[in-house]
Amino acid sequence: MATQCGVCNVNSNKLSYYKFWEESVCREHASDGTLRCYTCHRFKKAQDPEYLDLNDNGRKLCSYCSSIATLDPKECMPLIQNVREFYKSLNLVVDETIPFLLVDKDMMFKFIPGILLYMIRLV
Ligand SMILES: [Zn+2]
Ligand SMILES: [Zn+2]
Repeated sequence: MATQCGVCNVNSNKLSYYKFWEESVCREHASDGTLRCYTCHRFKKAQDPEYLDLNDNGRKLCSYCSSIATLDPKECMPLIQNVREFYKSLNLVVDETIPFLLVDKDMMFKFIPGILLYMIRLV
């Protein structure tokens, strides 16, 4: 196992190993203010491009996550159409317009209280 931190490149015997990213990182980075992507949870390295600030309670995205993030509801229309087609293939016709909004975390908790419990279980 690596002895060098993938974020600050310091050699240490107190590293946490992230199997998904196959990367070892100093344990302190979890609490020392090192910037972390809100979506993939990777720590920002010095050589990484600037993170995208969502202006939403400090949420920021790394360059990879921001490259695939959907920030405009119009971009979601093909996905919604695919969902409608999927339901149609099951003979489950949805005749009403499906309400669709892109909202920040606070707005989700405000209007859909149950989603808080769902999100907590995912963590
Ligand atoms: Zn480190
Ligand atoms: Zn990310």
